[in-house]
Amino acid sequence: IHSKLPDVGTTIFTVMSQMAVEYNAINLGQGFPDFMMSEELIALVNKAMTDGGNQYVHMNGLPLLRERIAEKVEQLYHNPIHANDCITVTPGGTYAIYTSLTSILQAGDEVIVFEPAYDSYIPNIEVNGAIAVRISLQFPSYNIPWHRVKASITAKTKAIIINSPHNPTGAVLHESDIVALREIVAGTNIFIISDEVYEHLIFDGIAHQSILRYPDLMERSFVCFSFGKTYHCTGWKIGYCVAPAPLMKEFRKVHQFNCFSCHSPVQYALATYLQQPTPYLSLGGFMQQKRDYFRSLMQQTPFTLIPSHGSYFECYSYAGFSDEPDKALATRLTKEKGVATIPMSSFYKEGTDNKVLRFCFAKQATTLEKAVERLLQ
Ligand code: GLN
Repeated sequence: IHSKLPDVGTTIFTVMSQMAVEYNAINLGQGFPDFMMSEELIALVNKAMTDGGNQYVHMNGLPLLRERIAEKVEQLYHNPIHANDCITVTPGGTYAIYTSLTSILQAGDEVIVFEPAYDSYIPNIEVNGAIAVRISLQFPSYNIPWHRVKASITAKTKAIIINSPHNPTGAVLHESDIVALREIVAGTNIFIISDEVYEHLIFDGIAHQSILRYPDLMERSFVCFSFGKTYHCTGWKIGYCVAPAPLMKEFRKVHQFNCFSCHSPVQYALATYLQQPTPYLSLGGFMQQKRDYFRSLMQQTPFTLIPSHGSYFECYSYAGFSDEPDKALATRLTKEKGVATIPMSSFYKEGTDNKVLRFCFAKQATTLEKAVERLLQ
């Protein structure tokens, strides 16, 4: 077979989770909570099924759910978006990003992507015959070097992918980044793909810089969200994309022949559950507590924190005590200490190794305690 993705192997999340199972390690690698989600939301899904909500809903998403999403967007980001034309419910955030890229990319187009990059972005670009123009975030702040972005724009630049709060680094965009982005795209036809799946996981009193706050940028953007990250149900694979009508029209052409329509009972349930803002408004505080606790535990170890303000990941440097390659260390910690993490070089196409591991702290306090105890042994 002539591979469409010759350089692509198995995603690091699967590799590390499998290794964690094999060696009975505590899994701080792949990002998912190890605690229970809302019982109320589960009951709502059960109710939807019992009430007969088991057939296809509209291919763009249950209309009532899209209305609730529009209300949420208006409340949070003061942007009145059209539920019918501008929102599509998707099987997860990753799918929303893939579909956005697939709906706009032609062979030979260039897409600017920042490394470390969430591991689906570059394959999503390349499977479409487009070219990923990779720019490294500044190390160790993981800020975007906007002068380099400016210098990388060509006549073929079709899109820029941004992600805040950022996976894997936890870095968040500030207003100055939005100003720089605006300056770069002004007067061009460049699209923005904004991965905002961690919109509520932002800490230390910082406000999330959603593209949805900025109508001028919104005009050229696909903005992607995830209910799994917000409601502790990553396995439900449900999210949504927001885009202006002409872009959403193209998105839906791809979506209708790929997924068509998402899991119905979950959509009925979410339409009801979304009426309460408390679960998502309280998420940042809840997760910051976990982050702060994990930070305090990690202080006993020789790892050095690379501070950040968002997502449910924290990055730690081990350059101070080892020069082992990060993949080797992550493997050794899983096998010998029983703690799985994600080696940061997996998020660079050419494997740049800054001696950093990513830890997921969306775990029960006892899990975090046990993991750090094991690291100390
Ligand atoms: N988003 C999750 C993470 O970064 C993983 C999702 C997946 O395994 N595909 O850990």
